[in-house]
Amino acid sequence: MNVIVYSAKPYDRLYLEEANQKAGHNLLFVEATLSEETAGLAKGRDAACIFVNDRADRAVLTSLYEGGTRFIALRCAGFNNVDLPAVKDLGMCVVRVPAYSPHAVAEHTVALMQTLNRKIHRAYNRIREGNFALQGLLGFDLHGKTVGVIGTGRIGAIVARILRAGYGCEVLAYDVQPQAELEKMGVRYASLDEVISRCDVLTLHCPLTPETHHLINADTIHAMKPGVMIVNTSRGGLVDTAAVIEALKDGRIGSLAIDVYEEEADLFFEDLSGTVIRDDVFARLTTLPNVLITGHQAYFTEEALRNIADTTIGNLTEYEKNHRCVNAVHCDRMRRRDGSRGCAGKEVCPCEPDK
Ligand code: NAD
Repeated sequence: MNVIVYSAKPYDRLYLEEANQKAGHNLLFVEATLSEETAGLAKGRDAACIFVNDRADRAVLTSLYEGGTRFIALRCAGFNNVDLPAVKDLGMCVVRVPAYSPHAVAEHTVALMQTLNRKIHRAYNRIREGNFALQGLLGFDLHGKTVGVIGTGRIGAIVARILRAGYGCEVLAYDVQPQAELEKMGVRYASLDEVISRCDVLTLHCPLTPETHHLINADTIHAMKPGVMIVNTSRGGLVDTAAVIEALKDGRIGSLAIDVYEEEADLFFEDLSGTVIRDDVFARLTTLPNVLITGHQAYFTEEALRNIADTTIGNLTEYEKNHRCVNAVHCDRMRRRDGSRGCAGKEVCPCEPDK
């Protein structure tokens, strides 16, 4: 297949080229992110391979379609950046990498939690400057604390296990589809209201959808335990950042760790150290000592990059051979305007054009 790979960093290229050795797809790597301005680069390419901050809205998809592209291969699990109804209308196909290393993200989540709790980021700087004072570094035992896991899919389930079995936390969980396996190990599912209001630490692992957008907002923050720690390694849009900053300022939120940010597309994955950060909300966050930020690196392990590359190349090959793909983002995952989900057998799914 003739493929354009958007947002291609040297590490993406390395792993994709290795995975493509046998498959032999024609890969064109471009550093640009996909947008209305850059969609023209895909002209004549069968497939566009994109990542989390590439924008595949209706205008961009239409432009890709007009240039001959029919296949969108996401190098990630989340697909909130793709306008699925537009994909369906155009008859395109979107595939993703449903799981590349849930362990990578889960382990990073717990690393953030403990770095923030025990103030390792501050201690690191102090020691380098010969400051061995402990004042300001006081943490708490995670053991025995109540941690709320919102979204217990692949990643959330591992986080829940680590916290329950490893740290001895009380784990309260909320998910629209509870997992019996987790309940067997002592995780207790509860309503969203109960999880929000009872936990010392809240960690977010549900996808970004219209229902979960700004799940953490002024109202939900108001219902939380004073001093709560919030960790978000899922998607930035789950959190109303302005509301969180207000709550951090008056102490209602005790601390915040994020690997994702709602306006991250203009910041993350680039070296901006020589430029002025124009996003004042983000800049304010970086001034707070009780805020820890990583730039969407939770997934960034060797294992995950290898899995992403292998699955992406496999997706391209499978679609080329069969015109369908096991990792297609099916229309049953789409929410229609009338609130129903999926085609329910009433129409042809554009993700499986030969059915
Ligand atoms: P998953 O699909 O396995 O799990 C998501 C879970 O959320 C499911 O159990 C689902 O039932 C639940 N859910 C859906 N809607 C919900 C709602 N309204 N309220 C509560 N729960 C709801 O996904 P995953 O692989 O565990 O990934 C979780 C999220 O992590 C992804 O959506 C993605 O945005 C994010 N992610 C981030 C990184 C990173 O590097 N920071 C990497 C991979 C994935």
